[in-house]
Amino acid sequence: MTDTAPLRLFNSLTRSVETFVPITAGEARVYSCGPTVYNYAHLGNLRAYVFTDALRRTLLWKGYAVTHIINITDVGHLTSDADAGDDKMEAAARAQAKSIWDIAAHYTDAFKSNIAALNIIEPSEWTVATDYVPQMIEFAKTIADRHCYEIDSGLYFDVSTVPDYGRLARTKDDEGEGRIDPVAGKRNPQDFAIWRKSAPGENRQMEWDSPWGKGAPGWHLECSVMSHAKLGHPFDIHTGGIDHREIHHPNEIAQNQAFCGCSDAASGVGAGFTGARWWMHNNFLVDRSGKMSKSKGGFTTLFSLIDAGVHPLAYRLLCLSAHYRSELEFSSGTLGAALTRLKRMKKAIAVKRWQEFQETGQALDNFADIRPISIEKREDADITGVLALFDAAIRDDLNTPKCLPLVEEVLTDPTIDNRLRWHLIATMDEVLGLDLLKMDRADLRIPPKDAAITEVEIEAELDRRQAARAAKDFAASDAIRNALIAKGVDVMDGDPLRWEWNIRLD
Ligand code: AMP
Ligand code: ZN
Repeated sequence: MTDTAPLRLFNSLTRSVETFVPITAGEARVYSCGPTVYNYAHLGNLRAYVFTDALRRTLLWKGYAVTHIINITDVGHLTSDADAGDDKMEAAARAQAKSIWDIAAHYTDAFKSNIAALNIIEPSEWTVATDYVPQMIEFAKTIADRHCYEIDSGLYFDVSTVPDYGRLARTKDDEGEGRIDPVAGKRNPQDFAIWRKSAPGENRQMEWDSPWGKGAPGWHLECSVMSHAKLGHPFDIHTGGIDHREIHHPNEIAQNQAFCGCSDAASGVGAGFTGARWWMHNNFLVDRSGKMSKSKGGFTTLFSLIDAGVHPLAYRLLCLSAHYRSELEFSSGTLGAALTRLKRMKKAIAVKRWQEFQETGQALDNFADIRPISIEKREDADITGVLALFDAAIRDDLNTPKCLPLVEEVLTDPTIDNRLRWHLIATMDEVLGLDLLKMDRADLRIPPKDAAITEVEIEAELDRRQAARAAKDFAASDAIRNALIAKGVDVMDGDPLRWEWNIRLD
């Protein structure tokens, strides 16, 4: 399957879908811009990592050995992309009267627990920016003479020294002025800090000695240095949110061009070298109430979703139900629909197992012995149909929304033998990561933190309601339902397993 059906991925560099050809046969090296750990990740941030996880799992599905790096930004990211403002970490430490190291440790742990809850495979390595400051200084020294200049506030990269700055962002020259506020003394509006000197009298918790004075590295420098240190340049795929296509990644590319020593603006040499073959970007999770901004506060976290009684994998499913390059609208409605969809999938599994038990007197205790079908066996004639369709969808630039109905079809198709059904689900779930065979249906029932009623009480009320309905006492049945609604529980009729109740999310 790997040879006959290549993976096709959208490359932001060319704005087109291209056949993925790795630099080293059979291997894929991927770098994902990680979180700035000055606060909790919001749901939008986490969409970026559900996307990279879908990418990683798809590369594994196609048989590649994957090396995946995610960085932890614990220094250098300023409150403004225009090299102005404060370091986000310093500002958070001051606001919370804590050390930066405590702030970083707390939010890094929180982020990793979000990653685990969303069933995102851990990267091969987390690289922490502050561990790489000496390498950043060496990198900066290498490019300083030909590509940088020093002003009072630090060492700046002169974007006119590389041949095709901004190619990724597709900015026109005249757009630059308005886009980035000039720092006094900068040669070009898009020039950016490689090293920021501590201002005289400035009381920074994090600062290092450098040839350009005490200070801290620029944010863009981190990713160039860590991707080079861990993956070498060029590597295969660099990912990030769509916002990074405009400034952060063009700046990384400019640094990479300078560092490879192959870049010369006058002769045009080095044009096209970017440090990575593919640059891939997920679109935004949007919330009309404007809540998806970490710096503005008041945003929605995965923790708050869990407190509201929503299983984190419902959020994962919500992400997978849209193509990663489309905007995805977040609301209690879209999230509730994803939770119901996940419950229906689990319900279909329960129904099929119940039928299996009725027919054979035997049911699997659990799915521990159900293994995914190997790549070679996926081509066997009797199973090739649905997996071929699944493969066609996922290798077409990770079309997860097209994959989900295929899973639902396999879950309910009465003509599929159950044992094969479970193998097919295990196989497809390798890519989707919804834990369909691992999770118990009861796991989806997270008691909401502030709920006025427990799950057991809800079930008991529903039993009473069912008895009332059986006795055709519809007044009593409606009264029970209304009492549940008043406690924030919505009941959906017509479901024999009575799973279709939801805690209202708003
Ligand atoms: P940050 O912690 O701000 O550096 O962001 C971590 C990742 O989340 C980056 O790849 C961002 O591009 C991405 N990101 C930020 N906001 C959103 C959003 N609303 N939807 C999707 N991705 C986002
Ligand atoms: Zn980055």
